[in-house]
Amino acid sequence: MYSIGIDIGGTNTDIGLVNENGTILERCNLKTGSFTDFECYVQAVASEIKTMIGRNNLSLSDMEGIGIGAPNGNYYSGCIENAMNLTMRGVLNARKEFAKYFDCPVVLSNDANAAAYGELIYGGAKGMKNIIMFTMGTGVGSGIIVDGRLLLGSTGSAGELGHAIAVPGGRTCSCGLHGCLEAYASIRGILQTYREIRAEHDALHANDPVKEGWIDPSISINEISCRNLGNAANQGDPLALKTFAMTARYMGIAMANAVAFSSPEAIFLMGGPAQVGDPLLIPLRQAFKENLLYSFDNTCSIQMSQLNANDVAILGAAALIKMK
Ligand SMILES: [Zn+2]
Repeated sequence: MYSIGIDIGGTNTDIGLVNENGTILERCNLKTGSFTDFECYVQAVASEIKTMIGRNNLSLSDMEGIGIGAPNGNYYSGCIENAMNLTMRGVLNARKEFAKYFDCPVVLSNDANAAAYGELIYGGAKGMKNIIMFTMGTGVGSGIIVDGRLLLGSTGSAGELGHAIAVPGGRTCSCGLHGCLEAYASIRGILQTYREIRAEHDALHANDPVKEGWIDPSISINEISCRNLGNAANQGDPLALKTFAMTARYMGIAMANAVAFSSPEAIFLMGGPAQVGDPLLIPLRQAFKENLLYSFDNTCSIQMSQLNANDVAILGAAALIKMK
C-alpha cells in the first residue's frame, strides 16, 4: 500500500506519495499563501494528488490513506483550528473537505506530532515505544509517544512543551504567555539571547579583537541569522557559544522535566537550531544530566532525528495513517 503525506505550512504545502518503506516516490508543492478560500485550496491539493497517483501508474484503491500535518491540526476534530500563520482563517475542516475527493481515511494532526510519529514509523525510533520529539524552528514544538501511542489528551492537542514555562515572568511568547520555552529556544528566542549577550559584551569590551569565522561586530545585529550564529559558534566565537549554551540550558531542563513525566527511551531533536551540533548538544546533554532525577539516569538518550530534513514533514504526515 501507499500513502499521501501533506505538510501544510504558512508559505508552502508539500505533498508526497510515500511507499510502505517510507520512500517518497514523488513530491510536489503548492503556495499555501495564494489561497484565502479553504475549499478552493483543498480542490487544488486534491487535483495534484490525483495527478501524482496517476503518473505513478497507481489508483486511489492503492492508497492506505492521507495524512496531514498542519499548524493547530486537531486529530479528534479533523480541523485546523485558527492557525495564526495561515492566510485561510478560522476553523478549517480538513478531514471533511478531503473526504469529498477521497474515500480512504484522512488523518490530521499538528506538525510536531506528525514529526514524532514519522520518527517512530520511518526514522531512528523504529521499534521504540516511548519517545519525545522536540522541533526547534520558528517555534518550539513537541510530540510525545507513550506506550507506542501518540499522546493526544482530552483536547487532541497534548504535547505543547514549547509553551511550558521555562522562566517565570520571562519574555513574552508568541502565544501571549510569559517565559515559555519557545520564547528562548525558537530561532527568534535564540537571536534575542544573542542580542542581549552582545549588548552586555559591547558595553564593556567593544574593541576586543575578532578572529576569523566569528561574527564581525560591524555587521548590524538585525542581519545575523541563526545559521550565521551556528557557524560562528562552531568557529569558537565566544558570544555565539554563550548564546547556544544558554539555549541548551533551557532545552536540557525542559527535557529532564519531560522525562519525569513520561519516561521515554529517547528524546529526538530536529530543526535548524538543532543542526548547529556540538555548541548546542554538549551543554544540552550536560544540563539534561544535571536536572534529571537519579532513577532515570542512563535510561533516556538524546538523539538527532534520523529523517532527512527535507523529508520529515511529508513522512511525518504520511505516518499518521499508521496511528493506532
Ligand atoms: Zn508560549
